[in-house]
Amino acid sequence: MTPWKAARPGDRLDAIDTPALVLDLDAFERNLARMAEALRGSGVRLRAHAKCHKTPEIALRQIALGAAGICCQKVSEAAVFVEAGIADVLVTNQVMGETKLRRLAALARRARMGVLVDHPQQVQALVAVAQAEDVTLDVYVEVNVGANRCGVAPGEEAVRLAQQIAASAPLRFMGLHCYHGPAQHLRAPQDRAAAIAAAAEAARMTRAAIEACGIAVERVTGAGTGSFLHERDSGVFNEIQAGSYVFMDRDYGDNQRGEHDIAFEHALFVRTTVMSRATPERAIVDAGLKASSVDSGMPTVWQRPDLRYVKAADEHGALATPDATALSLGDQLMLVPGHCDPTVNLYDDLICVRGERVEALWPIAARGALL
Ligand code: PLP
Ligand code: MN
Repeated sequence: MTPWKAARPGDRLDAIDTPALVLDLDAFERNLARMAEALRGSGVRLRAHAKCHKTPEIALRQIALGAAGICCQKVSEAAVFVEAGIADVLVTNQVMGETKLRRLAALARRARMGVLVDHPQQVQALVAVAQAEDVTLDVYVEVNVGANRCGVAPGEEAVRLAQQIAASAPLRFMGLHCYHGPAQHLRAPQDRAAAIAAAAEAARMTRAAIEACGIAVERVTGAGTGSFLHERDSGVFNEIQAGSYVFMDRDYGDNQRGEHDIAFEHALFVRTTVMSRATPERAIVDAGLKASSVDSGMPTVWQRPDLRYVKAADEHGALATPDATALSLGDQLMLVPGHCDPTVNLYDDLICVRGERVEALWPIAARGALL
């Protein structure tokens, strides 16, 4: 049986079956171009995070515009992109467990593969699997620069790990992973600037301590959509991992833009239909939390400031409406998802639209890749 698709190329926008994940190609292409422009001539390269789009068609476009490679968060996600021909993948995570390690090492036969460590035991496990599979792996020490997730403390602890990696033949010590997640959504631009100034100082001090031991630190990598201009200008980071800039979600839209921040546009939408209009004050749409993730708050309704998405149930979304004339049964709306990454993970295809026409369907090939 051929799978049912919400739309086919050539369809009109208003003929899309809903709920559906829609990509505005014009806005998306402008976002890609803006990022390339922001890094041009800076000496800082983009290694785009693919966990947000999980779509090889997008990764290939990022590479075509100059990205040096991609990041993935999971080995299974990386496998999808290697299969699609991406030649340089950094798994921005610690990888534990024999099965995963074997899979990671096997991928290193087909692409340049990198991975993070924050404990000597992980280094030992990587040495063992790289020897067994006869491959070389790029290894980065993850430093906790303020996120308090993974990562060793800046300074001495990172130096010891770097020495261990540098002394391990099947591993290539590449440098430092210094990502500050919570800084991305600090609303005030000066707060983001201050958080990254501190992160950059920790990275600079740690790099100097490792270099003082005679070990080269080729790469300092990190940053996301909310902060990357600060990492770009830090003088210590030389690689940027932004991901969400391709789509922009409501949560990023809520950041106050600083003077120099780039005006990325919303390009990702959940298209939805009004299916019930029980009272003048309430409309129910067919996109609930299985269609648009709510971990970062509710979606907003695109270009309809008179409507408020107030509650998400599994398959129902409740909108507050000013009066009976505001919406009719069967009307279609575009929602701006609260958080792009987990929303994308709910769909098989991105329905790519230009103007009023569906231009293509791009498989979200790494959707659900959790291993
Ligand atoms: N790098 C790492 C390690 C991340 O975990 C993330 C996102 O959570 C990013 C980069 C990209 O951030 P964003 O999608 O907010 O640009
Ligand atoms: Mn995210």
